[in-house]
Amino acid sequence: MASSNNFLTNSDKVNMKKWRVFLIPFFARGHLIPMADFAGLLSANHPEIELTVVVTPGNTKFITSSLDKSNDSTQHPVQILTYPFPSIGLKSEVETVGIGNSAESSAIDEASHLARPGLEQVLQQHKPDAVIADISFPWIAATAADLKIPCLFFAPFSTFAMLVLNCFQKMRVRPGLLDHVTVLGLPGPEIRMPVLELPSFVLEENHAINVESLQKSGLDAFGIVVNTCRGVELEYCDEFEKTQARRAYFVGPVSVSCTMYQHHIIERGGEGETSCLRWLDTKEERSVILVSFGSQCYFKSAQLHELAMGLEGSRQNFLWVVRGADQSDKWIPEGWEERIADRGLVVRGWAPQLAILAHPAIGAFVTQCGWNSILEATAAGVPMLTWPLAYEQFINEKLLVDVVGCAARLWEGGKRSTRETERELVPRTVIAHAVSRFMEPEGEFSSVHCKAQELGAVARSAMADGGSSMSDLSRLIIELINAMENKTCQ
Ligand code: UDP
Repeated sequence: MASSNNFLTNSDKVNMKKWRVFLIPFFARGHLIPMADFAGLLSANHPEIELTVVVTPGNTKFITSSLDKSNDSTQHPVQILTYPFPSIGLKSEVETVGIGNSAESSAIDEASHLARPGLEQVLQQHKPDAVIADISFPWIAATAADLKIPCLFFAPFSTFAMLVLNCFQKMRVRPGLLDHVTVLGLPGPEIRMPVLELPSFVLEENHAINVESLQKSGLDAFGIVVNTCRGVELEYCDEFEKTQARRAYFVGPVSVSCTMYQHHIIERGGEGETSCLRWLDTKEERSVILVSFGSQCYFKSAQLHELAMGLEGSRQNFLWVVRGADQSDKWIPEGWEERIADRGLVVRGWAPQLAILAHPAIGAFVTQCGWNSILEATAAGVPMLTWPLAYEQFINEKLLVDVVGCAARLWEGGKRSTRETERELVPRTVIAHAVSRFMEPEGEFSSVHCKAQELGAVARSAMADGGSSMSDLSRLIIELINAMENKTCQ
């Protein structure tokens, strides 16, 4: 990706006024990682912006693991500034959703407003020229208005999910009243979903995450930066731009900047364990299915056991990332490790997902449908087999399977739900059958595979010089500098 500032001489760059912009990510790796990618992208392309990521001490490592390499290769390193994690009675090292148990994660999820005093103090003390905050901190718009600086929100979500969630919020859908709900007023095909698949924050009256207030702050702010690209979300980007923001900038997939520069592709978001990449080197092109469920969701032992048996039964090569709380070995079927030894690899904890998806041996991806994972697979041209679990993941699945066509559902037969207590176990026979059918090279899903490759080219070209996302990034900087020069936050 060429810099958009190639015409500047070195002395121009030295004398250039630097605008100090603070980036404020939320406490979850699915938010910290794309914010770090976005910071790397901005610092590589816009030396006129001096970036500082404002983060709590326990989350610093997720940003530095991503930023260190890109900082080494730029004259405009991204700075880090810390503020205290709000006191919510957790162990001192637990400041990130998905690191501790599910009660701790829910407490962190709901703590965004408690971060307000600490963050306001940082902003008042350092007086940046502008702030780009995660959309999970809607109140920052008011703080920025007090400071008379422009505030933008960064959304690591699909525009499709944000539009659908707004519709459901307006409809006041409540559990138990209806089985299914239909979204009205959006472009594209009719969107109808089981109520069980909607996130708790749109179903519960007084949930700490309030979609209406997120939407309102988004509209009040200077603009919204979305990690997506126009070529992937098409009419939903247009609709979002028309109805959800004063200014919308679609600047993704931001992960492409790491794969292109090879900056921090291994260390991104965690430890850079590379033996799985060497294992992939021994496998044929497009012959391995990656199985991974993001940074927040866990399975109980019973489901892990079924998944292990299902992957064995599929007779396909697989690379399976097993995380966190379920790492005790109770789920491993007897003799399983020996039986799958030549074609299966289990990675415990954290895997270099971006590097794995970019490896030629990967032919498909079983995903929970987190938006970052979707964009990363999309940019790599990898088709997805969907197994959503929580949050807006079922809505993202709808986009991939029913609108775009680059994925298939792993299972539709039983009761699926965003709430663990309401969902059925996905049986091993279903998993084995779905995986083996999906991996067939010229099988019934070949059109899905083709669509994924087509979309990969679209996503990568959006991030190339002159592509739609790079143009949106330049427009963002021009409009933001203009506002900062004129001292207006509108
Ligand atoms: N990820 C990773 N290694 C892992 C698990 C996840 O690098 O072992 C990264 C993944 O590439 C993505 C992010 O963590 O960038 C997960 O974000 P996503 O939106 O997919 O899901 P979430 O974790 O927010 O549910």
